[in-house]
Amino acid sequence: MIRLPAHAARAIEQLEGAGFETWAVGGCVRDSLRGATPHDWDLCTAARPEQMKAVFAGKRVLETGLKHGTLTLLTDGGPLEITTFRADGGYSDGRHPDAVRFVGSVEDDLARRDFTVGAIAWHPVRGLCDPYGGLDDLQDGILRAVGDPDARFTEDGLRILRAVRFASQLGFAVEPQTAAAMRRQLGRLDCVAAERVREELTRTLCGRFVQRALLSYRDVLAAVLPELVPMFDCAQQNPHHLYDVWEHSVRAVGQVPAVPALRWAMLLHDCGKPACKTIDEKGVGHFYGHPKVSREIAEQIVQRLRFSGAESARILLLVEQHDRPLGENDKLVRRRLSQIGEARFRDLLAIKKGDAVGQGTHPEDVAWLYGMEQCLDRVLAADACFSLRQLAVNGNDMLALGLSGPAVGAMLHDLLRAVIDEQADNTRGALLTLARARMEERHEQQ
Ligand code: ATP
Ligand code: MG
Repeated sequence: MIRLPAHAARAIEQLEGAGFETWAVGGCVRDSLRGATPHDWDLCTAARPEQMKAVFAGKRVLETGLKHGTLTLLTDGGPLEITTFRADGGYSDGRHPDAVRFVGSVEDDLARRDFTVGAIAWHPVRGLCDPYGGLDDLQDGILRAVGDPDARFTEDGLRILRAVRFASQLGFAVEPQTAAAMRRQLGRLDCVAAERVREELTRTLCGRFVQRALLSYRDVLAAVLPELVPMFDCAQQNPHHLYDVWEHSVRAVGQVPAVPALRWAMLLHDCGKPACKTIDEKGVGHFYGHPKVSREIAEQIVQRLRFSGAESARILLLVEQHDRPLGENDKLVRRRLSQIGEARFRDLLAIKKGDAVGQGTHPEDVAWLYGMEQCLDRVLAADACFSLRQLAVNGNDMLALGLSGPAVGAMLHDLLRAVIDEQADNTRGALLTLARARMEERHEQQ
C-alpha cells in the first residue's frame, strides 16, 4: 500500500495538470512497499528544469541540482526533490554524473538507477512501473543491480558501498552476480570522493543489520579502510575474549546506539590491537598500549574521510579512552566529569557497555557499568559541582583578591578540585576563605 502524502500528491497534480507525466520513485516507493514509512519523497517527471520552474513559479524552490535536472520544492510537508527523466553517463568525479541526457519516459529513467528495489516508480492513477522486477526482489530481500552489474559499478564506484549500506539498513542479501561484480570493481572506489565514502559508511554503521553486513562484506570495507585489515582473523588468545579482534569489534558496533560517532568509535576502538599484540609465557595474548595506537590509526581515517573537527574529536576521545576506568565512586565520577563533561561521559559509558558485551565473556562487567550510570545520575541529580561554570566564585572574585594573569585560572582550577574532592563546600564564603589561605601558603613558601 502506498500512501502518498498531500504535498507530493499536489506537486504531481500540478505537473500533470501542465501536461508533464510525473511519478514517485526510488527509496519512498521501496520503503512504502515494504511497509516502512519513507523519510522523504522523490519525484521524477517529463518536465525539463525550465518547465518545472514555470510550473512552480512563485513557489519556494532551490535550484541546486538544476544542471542535472533536479529542483527542490520547499513545501509545508517538507522538501520534495523533483528530477527530470534522465540517463546518466559516468561519474568521473565520484559526485555528479559527467553527462546528463534528458530522456522521454519513466522506463528510460529507471534504467539509470543502481538497484532494482530502488528502480520502481509509482503513480497514483497508473500504479507501479517496475520494468526490472524490483517488487519480486523486494519480496525476496535481494539487492540486484539494474542491467549489467560490472558496467554499473564501473560507472559509479560508490554504488558498491551503497549495496553494503542497503544490506545493513534493510537486511537484504546481495544477489551473487551483483556481489561478484562488486568485488571485481573494488578499484573503482579509489575515485569516489571522501565525503561520499564517509556518508555511506556512516549509514552502513548505523543500519539495523550492521553486524551481518560488516561480516559479509569486510573485503569491501577493506578497500576504503585498509587500516582495518590486520584486525581480520587476529586471534586474541585471551580468556576475556570469545572472538577475534574483528568479530569482537563488529559485535561491539551492534551494541551501541545508532549514533554515528558511537558506531565509528566502536568500529575503530581496537584497530591498534594487532600492532600491539604480545603473547606471554602461558600463551595468553596481551595488547598493552593499544588504545593510543588505535587513536593514531583512527586519526588518519577521520582526516582522510574529512570528518568535521567536532565529530573527529568526539570519535578520537572515545577510541583513546575506551579502556580507561571511569571511576567507581561519586568522587571519581565528579573528577572525570570535570575533565570531559556529561555528554562525553555518557558516550564513554555506551562505548564501555558495547565493548563489554562484544567480548562475550563477562556479563558482570556490564552490570557494573549500569551501576556506574546510576552513580552518574546520582551525581548529576545532586547538582554536584564539576565544572568552573558551576563554581560559586569566578574570575572577577579572584581579581578582587589580588590575583592576576594565569594565576586566576590556576586558582579557580584548584578550588574546583577541592570542591570535587569534598575538601570545600561550593559556597562563596568557603571558597574565598580557601583561596586566601592558599595565597598565604604560597606567599610563605616564597
Ligand atoms: P534513502 O533515501 O533511504 O537513502 P534511496 O534509495 O532513496 O534511499 P537516494 O540516495 O535518496 O537513495 O537516491 C534516490 C534514488 O536515486 C535511489 O533509489 C536510486 O534509484 C537512485 N540513485 C541514487 N544514487 C544513485 C547512484 N549513485 N547510482 C544510481 N542510482 C542512484
Ligand atoms: Mg531517498
